[in-house]
Amino acid sequence: MANETNIFAALIAHCKEYGYIFQSSEIYDGLAAVYDYGQNGAQLKKNIRDEWWKSMTQLNDNIVGIDAAIFMHPTTWKASGHVDNFSDPMIDNKDSNKRYRVDHLIEGFAEEQKAMGNEQLANDTITAMDALLAANDYAGLKKLIEDNKIKCALSKTCNWTEVREFNLMFSTQIGSVAEESETIYLRPETAQGIFVNFLNVQKTGRMKIPFGIAQTGKAFRNEIVARQFIFRMREFEQMEMQFFVRPGSQMQWYEYWKTERKKWLESMGLPAGKLRYHNHVKLAHYADAALDIEFEFPFGWKELEGIHSRTDFDLKQHQEHSKKKIQYFDNDIDESTGKAYGNYTPFVVETSVGLDRLFLTIMSLAYVEEKWTKEDGTEDSRVVLKIPTKIAPTKLAILPLLKKDGLPEIAKELMDECKQSFHCFYEEKDAIGKRYRRMDAIGTPFCVTIDHQTKEDSTVTIRYRDTMTQERVKMSEVKGLVLGKIG
Ligand code: ATP
Repeated sequence: MANETNIFAALIAHCKEYGYIFQSSEIYDGLAAVYDYGQNGAQLKKNIRDEWWKSMTQLNDNIVGIDAAIFMHPTTWKASGHVDNFSDPMIDNKDSNKRYRVDHLIEGFAEEQKAMGNEQLANDTITAMDALLAANDYAGLKKLIEDNKIKCALSKTCNWTEVREFNLMFSTQIGSVAEESETIYLRPETAQGIFVNFLNVQKTGRMKIPFGIAQTGKAFRNEIVARQFIFRMREFEQMEMQFFVRPGSQMQWYEYWKTERKKWLESMGLPAGKLRYHNHVKLAHYADAALDIEFEFPFGWKELEGIHSRTDFDLKQHQEHSKKKIQYFDNDIDESTGKAYGNYTPFVVETSVGLDRLFLTIMSLAYVEEKWTKEDGTEDSRVVLKIPTKIAPTKLAILPLLKKDGLPEIAKELMDECKQSFHCFYEEKDAIGKRYRRMDAIGTPFCVTIDHQTKEDSTVTIRYRDTMTQERVKMSEVKGLVLGKIG
């Protein structure tokens, strides 16, 4: 049993042991900050992605989904500002050669101070850092680090280089021979695939403003300081939606999506008390308002989703670089002038959530270690993943009590009946108690046991993961019962 301090390490080990997440290319000692999803992880990830996709494209009749390519024309990233601006200020420790993102280094120091009771110093340091970052004052940031004697975790020294910028985009070559090849980038965000397709979608879908385009897909960032498991990865997946609105109405939509997105996160089982808004002090070059929805991870409050009012920056940039007119003709009447709104470049409100980060929030809430005293006075315990039923990778385990007497045949009949509707798992090995524990550990909400009584009266025992209670139900009712809970 893990205590509070190593519960996160226990969760990581659990993810590996039960087929949720493996280190990428582990047999070669792994690749830092890159992970593979196993048989249970891939299904949970898909279920989360499907929920998001449904909530965006099915439940909103003015949002459609696309799937743009990862490779894009290199000018895309010039236009978006990523070639020139997508970088983080970094600092290296001269003794250990370890590189830090300046904001992470200072935030780490502030957290330590807070833990030691120096709340005031922690807050002052963060305020000073925000101001220096906003002013791009790198000398000031270095001085802040030195004045507070912030040390490298490895060398324990305060021997720092200057603060420098590093671009986070990965590049590669396209073309058959090296000389003819052109440098292209692996997209660092999915949003640009939406912007360059604005006219295609608007025209072919006859979309009327306000409307949204949603997309899920891989994004790549050469994160220098990659840490905290799947919280910060070099290859990850985003779920983004760009909402195109009339200029001047963006703040109203920004408020709308801020509320909607928090509500949706709560509908995925995230408690309201573990979510909060954090307004950006330093705005990105394209934004006129921005906030993060933060979640209280096992390692503290961190960004889970970003809501950004991106103005008309992206569409205007693509218009300028492509020399193609990217505008919308709005024939609705503007009541203040009595005339149609006419041609304009729409403004954009973006919602952007990391699928892997959301996966991590769900797993960190689901992972529970339970201990109790049984009626005979002995201690018992279990590790259970209390994943919300609607997204649990396997919904129902079908377990014949014995591997004989016709019980497996009955179990397989039930399996055939249910597997068209939801994911089932069949297992006949080991004692029933052991099988229940394994199902708890992978988060299967329902187990059904087929025993000798089933042969007599067609009833089975259904066991509920969260309460461990059991009841006898008719076998013919199992499918409907599970479907009812999924819905
Ligand atoms: P951070 O400040 O944590 O680096 P960001 O502000 O750069 O994040 P955005 O560019 O707004 O992040 O990306 C939107 C979302 O994509 C984030 O809220 C996060 O959930 C996810 N995301 C961004 N970078 C990563 C990463 N390296 N690994 C996993 N998810 C990420």
